[in-house]
Amino acid sequence: MGKIGNLKEGKTQEAESAMVEIRNVSAGYGKHRVLDGVSLTLQKGQVTTLIGENGSGKSTLLKVLLGFHPLTGGKILIGGVLAEKLKRSELAKNIAYLPQGNNVPDITAGRMVLSGRFPYLSYPRRYGAQDIEVARRAMEQMRILQYSDYPMSQLSGGMRQKVYIAMALAQQAGVIVMDEPTTYLDIGQQAKFAALVRELSGAGKTLLLVLHDLPLALKISDKVAALSAGKIIFCGSAKETVRSKIAEELYGVAVKSVPTEAGEQYYYELLS
Ligand code: ADP
Repeated sequence: MGKIGNLKEGKTQEAESAMVEIRNVSAGYGKHRVLDGVSLTLQKGQVTTLIGENGSGKSTLLKVLLGFHPLTGGKILIGGVLAEKLKRSELAKNIAYLPQGNNVPDITAGRMVLSGRFPYLSYPRRYGAQDIEVARRAMEQMRILQYSDYPMSQLSGGMRQKVYIAMALAQQAGVIVMDEPTTYLDIGQQAKFAALVRELSGAGKTLLLVLHDLPLALKISDKVAALSAGKIIFCGSAKETVRSKIAEELYGVAVKSVPTEAGEQYYYELLS
């Protein structure tokens, strides 16, 4: 796998605010409180993965962080600045979002990547030579430049995801949030995705993922945070997660690890 080393070039332009502090955040829908005093810190250059049962509030936490859904309590700091003080375009320069699902926009891959430049446009909102160059570099980094004129609908799930990641790179946001990014990937694409996530974090990106695949989460994350009934009930490294028995509590499975030549491998077994 090549290096995304030249991502570092863009760092001076990148907001210095790649670290996120979610402090005592509550949120919900009407009277239904979904997040109940959630605190979580995303360290710069680290991969943090949210796990938890369906309905535990993972997507809601992402929506709140991205400014798509209001808080009812607590605060979010991005690089030490209160998120609510940031304009939407400023927030987008800091946080890029790869949504869940397989809605495929009816545009070319190149246009999709270019749309990552949207927060940087001023009136009359036309992409300029610099935007086109930044998008081209992002596609080059993801090794998808040759697909620039392909409609998104003609690309495989793995390729489409690379386009979304290139879009996030073009956005030059320090933080990248991905909601269940492996759902539509086959196992080969998943393995490549794992390497890519580590590469992005190695290049200084701060990542927040939601993953259902616990062994994958353990393999690629610096920190795993477990959400249950709207509260963070555990947060720790892969080793700490295995030791914690949190998977028993959440999913009724035992997580185990074995050392291999390719590093620690994780698997789970149903508890009898
Ligand atoms: P997860 O991502 O962990 O599956 P969600 O954040 O999607 O959890 O959902 C948490 C709770 O909030 C669930 O009870 C869900 O039904 C509820 N919920 C999610 N979205 C909405 C919405 N738009 N309106 C009302 N309730 C919602």
